[in-house]
Amino acid sequence: MSNSPDKTIGVPPADSIRFTCKRNQPKLNQQDIEQLISAVNQEKNRSSKYSQQILDGVLGFLDTGQLHDFEGRDYLQAKKSFAESELEMALSFPDDETRIKYLVYRYKFIEYPKNKIVDGFPIVVSLEPVSYCNLRCTMCFQVDRKFFTDKSVMGFMDMTLYRKLVDEMAENQLCSLLFGGRGEPMLHKNFIEMVTYATQKGIIDTKINTNATKLTAEKSRELLRAAPKTIVFSVDAGNKQEYEAIRVGANFDQVVANIKTFHEIREKEFPQSRSRTRVSMTIFRESQDAKEAENLWSNMVDEFSIQSADFRVDIYDHPLLLNETRPCALLWERLYVWWDGNMNPCDIDYRSHLGLGQISKERPTIKSIWLGEKMEKMRRDHLEGRKNSFYPCNQCYGL
Ligand code: SF4
Repeated sequence: MSNSPDKTIGVPPADSIRFTCKRNQPKLNQQDIEQLISAVNQEKNRSSKYSQQILDGVLGFLDTGQLHDFEGRDYLQAKKSFAESELEMALSFPDDETRIKYLVYRYKFIEYPKNKIVDGFPIVVSLEPVSYCNLRCTMCFQVDRKFFTDKSVMGFMDMTLYRKLVDEMAENQLCSLLFGGRGEPMLHKNFIEMVTYATQKGIIDTKINTNATKLTAEKSRELLRAAPKTIVFSVDAGNKQEYEAIRVGANFDQVVANIKTFHEIREKEFPQSRSRTRVSMTIFRESQDAKEAENLWSNMVDEFSIQSADFRVDIYDHPLLLNETRPCALLWERLYVWWDGNMNPCDIDYRSHLGLGQISKERPTIKSIWLGEKMEKMRRDHLEGRKNSFYPCNQCYGL
């Protein structure tokens, strides 16, 4: 086993290929879009909790002439509208109030990092139920011996801490909670309880990143009952040989069977489920065949996405990037919470050199860290061309 992640490619990709996502059965029609425009216009005409400027921005983003397929982070800072998949997601909520809440959050997700606006709470929180993983994928942090052999950074989140965190997120109207981080979330014995709690607390966009190795039929049912909004299966190939060479420790046939079974259970037993599914393929080797993978997985999920991994890997051994001074978008977008309550501005720095502090029963809140001095200094220094004064930002292309 190597001591650092797979680093086949050493330069950043063209922004346009960092992330693409294809829906298998697009459902949107003109009437749906008009319905959303009408709901936002009505909201504008009453005394809304959202400013007129934000609602106008949302209306601008509903401009039907510019809809597109790119739901991810706006690397090129060129987005002027929502992705069709975002509008489908908005329409999946049963009432206008939640639809508008979702659209406002997606609008902020694009516009705030671009315009360097700090919202009162992170727009997205990425939470790590567990830092252990059962696999050793070649491009992942989990092949870094310094990381996975350090017992002080390995563990499972305590449920009291978890509930405290989610209570604060709910009080602050957080919309987007991502279950992921550095480990495999389904290894946590209370994982289903975690997702259920977040759903019950009204967090409208919960997302799970899983390698699907632990997705038994029973777990599939439990997960569908817990009702996360999006489930992302991380698989990087469409054939056994390539898959098992990358996802070291996983069995391709088992993972195919797990995802297929999940799909069948959702179709037959949960036809009203509003959880969408995606297979995510991370590209970092020329031998990976995206078309073959898409052909295989597209029958089993709602979406198939491709993302480039090369700008994420091997951060600590990466050469200095002295001319790279663009501020990192994450500082205006999200926070990461590790299993022990430690917080970080990103997971690229998975060894937490940029650590922001730890949340515990007595200690600070997510909000106080988000708006606190450390984050403010990072934002200021990144904005004023001093990104290189932070390690490992000085070796990172940023996001
Ligand atoms: S520049 Fe890189 S290391 Fe720094 S906060 Fe952004 S993603 Fe993390």
